Amino acid sequence: MPRTVATRALGVGRPPSTALTPSIDMSTTYARDPDNGYSSGHVYGRKDNATVQQAERQIAELEHARDALLFGSGMAAAVAVFTALPPTHIVAPRDMYWGLRVWLQSAHRHGHEVSFVDMSRLDEVRSSLRPGRTGLVWIETPSNPLWTVTDIAAVSDLAHRAGAMVCADSTVATPVLTNPLLFGVDIVMHSATKYLNGHSDVVAGALASADRSELWLRIKDTRDQQGAVLGSFDAWLLTRGLRTLDLRVKEQSRSAAWIAERLLGHPAVSAVLYPGLPDHPGHAIAKRQMPGGFGGMLSLRLRDGAAAAIAAAAQVQLWRRATSFGGIESLIEHRASIEGEGSPCPDDLLRLSVGLEDPNDLYRDLADSLDLLTRT
Ligand SMILES: *Cc1c(COP(=O)(O)O)cnc(C)c1O
Repeated sequence: MPRTVATRALGVGRPPSTALTPSIDMSTTYARDPDNGYSSGHVYGRKDNATVQQAERQIAELEHARDALLFGSGMAAAVAVFTALPPTHIVAPRDMYWGLRVWLQSAHRHGHEVSFVDMSRLDEVRSSLRPGRTGLVWIETPSNPLWTVTDIAAVSDLAHRAGAMVCADSTVATPVLTNPLLFGVDIVMHSATKYLNGHSDVVAGALASADRSELWLRIKDTRDQQGAVLGSFDAWLLTRGLRTLDLRVKEQSRSAAWIAERLLGHPAVSAVLYPGLPDHPGHAIAKRQMPGGFGGMLSLRLRDGAAAAIAAAAQVQLWRRATSFGGIESLIEHRASIEGEGSPCPDDLLRLSVGLEDPNDLYRDLADSLDLLTRT
């Protein structure tokens, strides 16, 4: 019987006892058998922690993956993919998580050459591919902070025809809204710091793979050898967060869609960026790829520029001024300020992460702050 995300998130990794809640395996090492073997399968905490493995099974299940690997952060997860690859040509989106863009900008230190393209333009993707020489195409959809939508199936097909692997950063979509592996991607990546954990109290990253390819096994070796692992308490918190992922993401998507629509006509706002809006350039593709909703993230561009954006963020009472996203509390951020010098993020942009507060209260708080701008 096919089970929904809501049911799968609850069912995986149930303890083999009568306890409803899994216990935490805090052990860093495991006893050998008298015959010198390790029949338990557990040897040492850096690669074998049972709580970490349980969270990995949960994520693999949610992404329809064969295997998943947890890391100490989303950055560690993504960088493990880049460093496990032999020197190659990588195609990456121009609009992407800034920390990864910064890493890729100096990827020549690892022998990689990187082309940044507009992933929403298939002709641009096609002409950037070097058949036989491009080893990886990196997708992020919806992308941070402009929420550009990439056609995952079409880009995966182009990449595979050129002999390249495809990895998708699906942090914003979550497995509730999109399963990139089902659209042809080879590896899906998450900053589990965001929606997967969802409570702003764990930094973690995850990769999930459709198969145990040569690259996948090298990624696992990279993680185990570099020790970029997640601690067992953090993994336990993550298993707890994952159990409410479906509820949280659906509610956050509903609230974000409602807030985005209401903000459209505000005189202080020049643009609302949200894939759920019919005039968003990626809306038709998003509808196909994100059947359960368009996510809890949106951005606003303000008519009066950077100073107005910073002033609006300064006035809000309910939204918290902070970086990161995907938690239960709503956040507002002047994104260019944190990305710093050289950021392609427009300086009139405010990024909103919609939490679980009442959307009416969230809208009122934001509208009150924006009203002040139009009055002065
Ligand atoms: C936060 C984020 C990352 C990096 O993850 P960390 O857990 O902060 O290391 C990567 N990609 C996206 C889209 C993110 O939002």
